[in-house]
Amino acid sequence: MRHQTRAPRCARCALHPHLCVCAELQPVSLPFELVVVRHWQEARKPTGSAALLALCVEGVRILDYGARDTVFTDDGLSGEGAYLLLPPEPVPEAPPPPPTDLRRLVLVDGTWAQARRLAARAAGLPTMPRWWLTRPARDTARLRNPHEPWARSTFEAAAEAVGTLVDPELERGLLRSYDHWVDHALQMRGIGRPQGGP
Ligand SMILES: [Zn+2]
Repeated sequence: MRHQTRAPRCARCALHPHLCVCAELQPVSLPFELVVVRHWQEARKPTGSAALLALCVEGVRILDYGARDTVFTDDGLSGEGAYLLLPPEPVPEAPPPPPTDLRRLVLVDGTWAQARRLAARAAGLPTMPRWWLTRPARDTARLRNPHEPWARSTFEAAAEAVGTLVDPELERGLLRSYDHWVDHALQMRGIGRPQGGP
């Protein structure tokens, strides 16, 4: 395990103060609510992208699941117009039609195994209708190596859903903010964005 630096971090974007991106973020509003159900262990990782999402989109709710002595309830999570952004298994060949009654888009955040467990167990999620992305993940620098070619960060999944469901220009703006944050986080580790690639 690599030794973790104890240098101070911005409480919002988790970067060192001289690399903080908060002043450059312009939160956007969406015609539906974004909710992230986050595995409690994910909440402790500075590389988690849900917190950044909450800085870039107005009204994002982050609900932590699974910590000892806590009870997770379906309070205001499922219900009419709520969709879980996760493909069913096996993934159907036909792409899902865009929901016409979308009021709330719910994302699960954690490792792939944690996200699957959340979707199967967290109150409100097992029976929630699903909608999912069908395009491959971007070929881009991330703070963690994706386990599968189609895997992307929670932030990117949200941004791409916004691009498909609302406006591609909103997606581009969100992904610019995400890439900027990743660049600064890589600088914090003393590495730059890999050169080359598309
Ligand atoms: Zn900051």
